[in-house]
Amino acid sequence: MNNKQVEAVRSYLNGRRMLSTDWPFSSELISYCITNHLVTYKPALTKSSDGWLCNRCGNKKAAFFYQHYCSKCNSDCTYCRHCIQMGKASSCVNLYSWNGSPIHYSPIKSSCKWLGTLSFAQQKAADTLVSISIIPAAIHLIWAVCGAGKTEILFPVIEKCIQFGKRVAIATPRTDVVKELAPRFKAAFPNITQSVLYGGSRKQAIQAQLVLATTHQLLRYSHTFDLLVVDEVDAFPYSYDSSLKFAVYNAKKKSGVLVFLSATPSKTLLNEKNLNLTKIPIRFHGKPLPLPRFKWIGNWQKAINAGKLPSLIFEWLSHYNNEPKMIFLPSIYLLNKLSNLLKNESCVFAAVHAKAPNRHQSIAAFRNKKLKLLLTTTILERGVTVENLQVAVLGTENPLFSEACLVQISGRVGRKLAFPNGDIVFWHNGVTTAMRQTRKHLRNMNKEAGL
Ligand SMILES: [Zn+2]
Ligand SMILES: [Zn+2]
Repeated sequence: MNNKQVEAVRSYLNGRRMLSTDWPFSSELISYCITNHLVTYKPALTKSSDGWLCNRCGNKKAAFFYQHYCSKCNSDCTYCRHCIQMGKASSCVNLYSWNGSPIHYSPIKSSCKWLGTLSFAQQKAADTLVSISIIPAAIHLIWAVCGAGKTEILFPVIEKCIQFGKRVAIATPRTDVVKELAPRFKAAFPNITQSVLYGGSRKQAIQAQLVLATTHQLLRYSHTFDLLVVDEVDAFPYSYDSSLKFAVYNAKKKSGVLVFLSATPSKTLLNEKNLNLTKIPIRFHGKPLPLPRFKWIGNWQKAINAGKLPSLIFEWLSHYNNEPKMIFLPSIYLLNKLSNLLKNESCVFAAVHAKAPNRHQSIAAFRNKKLKLLLTTTILERGVTVENLQVAVLGTENPLFSEACLVQISGRVGRKLAFPNGDIVFWHNGVTTAMRQTRKHLRNMNKEAGL
C-alpha cells in the first residue's frame, strides 16, 4: 500500500463512522489499514442479555430491530430500523472509524465576514460563549426568547474556533431549519469549507470544517467536533431524548464544547448535569414580547361541524384584512373543516400541515406577501418570520397546545423592528394551565429584560 491510498482513506474516514458495506476502496486496503491500526472496527449491532444494541444510533428498543434472510451472509440477520435512512446496520456488518492522525485545518484569523452589529444582550451572550469555548467538555445553554437573534450570537465563537483550526458543527432536529441556516452561515464564513447534511441532501464535502446537519445526520460522525451547537434543541421530532443525546455526545470530541440553543428548554435539559445557562430575555430590537389575549369562543367545534363560521373568526379576519395572518389549529381534520367554511366566504388563503404536498410553495407565497392568510397545524410553530404578522390560535384548550408550543406560536408576532407589536389571540372554550403559564413565561421574560 502506498501513502496516497492511505491518505485517500484518511480524507474519507477522518472523524466519521461508516458501515463496512459502504467501504469504497479495495478489500486489501481495509485489511492493511486494520492491521496497521489506522482503522478500527466494531460490529454495527451487538447482542447482550438485554437484547440488541445498535452501535451506530444507540437504539435499544426491541421494536426497532427486524430479522430477515440476508443474502450477504446467507443466514437470518438482524438490522436496526431506527437509523435505516443511513443504510442498513445489520448484525453481519461492521462500523469503521479512522484511528490514524487526524486532518488539520489551518488557523484563519478573521474568518467572519458578517457586517451586522450585535445588540447589548447578544454581545454579552456571544462573549460568554467565546470564554467557555476553551473550557474542555463545557455544556452551555443559551435560553433566548423568540426573536433574540440567536444565530448571530454564534458567529464570534465560531470565528474563535476557526482561529485555532478547530472543527465546528451546527445541528438542529429539523431539516427546514438546516436549509434556512445554511445560506446565512455561508455568507458569514465564505472562505470556510461547509457541508450541509440532511436526509436526501446531495453529495457534500466530507471533511468540511463547518458542518450544518440534522441531529440525525450527526450519527455519521464520531468524536470529531471541537464545538457542537444544537439549535432548537426542544423541537419536533426530537425532544432531548436518548437518541439525540447519543448522536450529540458521540459526534463531539470528548473535550469538545456543547452549546444548546432554545426559547423553550425542557425540564430534562435544564436539569442536565454541569449545564451552564445564559438567558437572553430580550429581543434584538429591544421591544417587549407581545402578550397573548384570551378570548372565549364557546363550542367552536360544534359550530364548525354544523357548517357555521364563528363570528369572532369572521370579525378578526375582517379587522386585519390587510395584514398577514396565521390561524393555528389542533388537527388536520379541523383545519380542513375551517378551510371549507372559509372557501364558502370566498376567502383567499392556504392551509398547511405535515401532509400537505404544496406546503413549501404556500409558505413561500406567504413569506413573499403574495398571500395574506395561512391556516396551519403546529408544524409552523417556529421558523416563520413575517413582518407585521397577526396570530390566532383556535381551540387553545387542546392539550396539544403546551406551554412550549404556545410560547413559540406567540413568538411569531412582533419580530421586526418596524412592527414590534401585533395581535396574538387564544380563542378557547376554557382557559388551561398551559395558557396561563405561557402568559406568565412571557411576562417574566419581559420583567427580566427590564421592560
Ligand atoms: Zn440504529
Ligand atoms: Zn447478514
